[in-house]
Amino acid sequence: MDIKTLDHQYVANTYKRFPVEIVGGHGSIVTDRDGKEYIDLGSGIAVNAFGMGDPAWQEAVIGQIHKFQHTSNLYYTEPCARLAQMLCEKTGMKKVFFSNSGAEANECAIKVARKYAAEKKGPDYYTILTLENSFHGRTLTTLAATGQDEFHRDFQPLTPGFVHARANDLSDVLEKAKAHKLAGIMIEVVQGEGGVITLEADFVKGIAALCQKEDIVLICDEVQIGNGRSGHLYGYMHYGITPDVFSTAKGLCAGLPLGATVLGEKVENVLGYGDNGSTFGGNPICCAGAISTLSRMDEALLAEVQAKSQYIVETLTGAKGVKAVSGLGLLLGIAPERDCATVINECIEAGVLVLSAHGKVRLLPALNIPMEQLRKAVEILRDVLAR
Ligand SMILES: *Cc1c(COP(=O)(O)O)cnc(C)c1O
Repeated sequence: MDIKTLDHQYVANTYKRFPVEIVGGHGSIVTDRDGKEYIDLGSGIAVNAFGMGDPAWQEAVIGQIHKFQHTSNLYYTEPCARLAQMLCEKTGMKKVFFSNSGAEANECAIKVARKYAAEKKGPDYYTILTLENSFHGRTLTTLAATGQDEFHRDFQPLTPGFVHARANDLSDVLEKAKAHKLAGIMIEVVQGEGGVITLEADFVKGIAALCQKEDIVLICDEVQIGNGRSGHLYGYMHYGITPDVFSTAKGLCAGLPLGATVLGEKVENVLGYGDNGSTFGGNPICCAGAISTLSRMDEALLAEVQAKSQYIVETLTGAKGVKAVSGLGLLLGIAPERDCATVINECIEAGVLVLSAHGKVRLLPALNIPMEQLRKAVEILRDVLAR
């Protein structure tokens, strides 16, 4: 049986896969079963920050595999402690809880907000405000946080205590903050899954001011836009705000599962012994990979991300067949005049992998994609969009 048939027979039906079986890759080039090469503008949904098989990343990960692979969180390990130090020193935050995914990182952020508010203001201050059209994960609690009804329909009852306000509508946020006893407000500064919607600066600053004034825990979900993708180390830095908590995952270890909930001064000691835990969280191989990844996200790389972003935006804005270009850094959304699925399939046929998000073509290339490959891929995309 070929792999596609096997997959359809034995893997749960949750994913509508593109008709491509990937067998290998190098950098931003991936190869399918037939030996066809593609330029990858998706990077495994923002995970492969340095593309496929990056040598420095491989060396860090394989080096740790040769030492030991796992200890459990009952023991101290150097990669975990050093990565936590690095995350704090690069952001000014104070402590880190490690998990395995974005959803878990958000669950921890929500627990922190609820415990902080319960202790500070009382047990009825448990509601978390999130935005319509957001995406925060697939667990029942992070689904409740996700402000998109179509994800909720078949899984009721979800965790109670979530309320959604309209993105980029500060008066709606202020109204709902008055009507509910809030523990926290959680935002993605660019709503990735929701269609690459960038939050406006006044809106984000307004939320930060509200959180400060009312002592509400401000959580930034940096799972997709974080780790250099915005052209800043974390997306919130673009706005000049400081969250109390940020969560991240996807690109953090550039290809292995690692989630992190990063705590600022206000909440650094909210979690005590036994308040959270994870068997795999902070795995030494993943942490060694993340140390390598984060140590390369310096000013030079971030400037490169911004320059590549500018190239894509300038090339596609106003191009034939393009309604609009949105996003930040190397998380960009192209609203096509033609049907989005058709555009994506024609790109794949032409040798370029792109993703979708709410009717837009979503681009999430590796941060280090060579300019020559990016140029070639964007020209193909431009031609497909113009058909
Ligand atoms: C992908 C994503 C998540 C969920 O991450 P998982 O690792 O799939 O659990 C949460 N928030 C945002 C913004 C995401 O893009």
